[in-house]
Amino acid sequence: MKYIGAHVSASGGVDQAVIRAHELEATAFALFTKNQRQWKAAPLSAQVIDAFKTACEKYHYSSAQILPHDSFLINLGHPVADALEKSRAAFLDEMQRADQLGLTLLNFHPGSHLQQIDEEACLKRIAESINITLDKTRNVVAVIENTAGQGSNLGYRFEHLATIIEHVEDKSRVGVCLDTCHTFAGGYDLRTEDDCIATFAEFGRVVGFNYLRGMHLNDAKSTLGSRVDRHHSLGEGNIGNTVFSWLMKDERFDNIPLILETINPDIWKDEIAWLKAQQQP
Ligand SMILES: [Zn+2]
Ligand SMILES: [Zn+2]
Repeated sequence: MKYIGAHVSASGGVDQAVIRAHELEATAFALFTKNQRQWKAAPLSAQVIDAFKTACEKYHYSSAQILPHDSFLINLGHPVADALEKSRAAFLDEMQRADQLGLTLLNFHPGSHLQQIDEEACLKRIAESINITLDKTRNVVAVIENTAGQGSNLGYRFEHLATIIEHVEDKSRVGVCLDTCHTFAGGYDLRTEDDCIATFAEFGRVVGFNYLRGMHLNDAKSTLGSRVDRHHSLGEGNIGNTVFSWLMKDERFDNIPLILETINPDIWKDEIAWLKAQQQP
């Protein structure tokens, strides 16, 4: 079964995100469990946790259909010790918040070397950050998102993801989320069915579909290999509709959250309906 939704706003409380997803007729959703541009947040109250769990039950969302995203400030590969500590503490808080909400996945961007350490050292540092956090938490899988490779962000090559996973001790609690815009901007073509077949075959070879725990479905304003992260609405950008239609018919993308982060929330409901309709051969 395909779980299809969007990254909805949690303003007014995380339980409001569940209602917004339901209004979109989504069968999956993503959210931030705290303000994504701030380091600190008040702990989730028992009341908010309860409201979130009740809403998920009422609208039939299981933890397999929900992909929380962590703060953009966190850099688990930070070259400077103090800053790395701050990021690790914030990431631990994000993992704990997800667990408190009964969630089992947490999507994050791997990290950046900031031109101060080499790629290999940064990837190992990211894996070490994951290991430290997994040791201190339970239940939640750390889901690494591939990036567009903007600036010094790592994770734009499948090999980067594989290297991080290789150095994670508990492989049952690490996974990957592929963002189609980031994949394309990172240099993997998705414009034709043959491109999709080749790109995902390479993902299967280098990383493995057993690690695929979610997808972000975005068209791209940026061009192939540009390493620029600019999302677009489905079919409006440089990738086009083919990949999204193709994904809906492939069972390797079953039972994981498939999340729109497209730029016009006013048409999310239509985009979700269109994606659902593509499942028919
Ligand atoms: Zn992301
Ligand atoms: Zn994304």
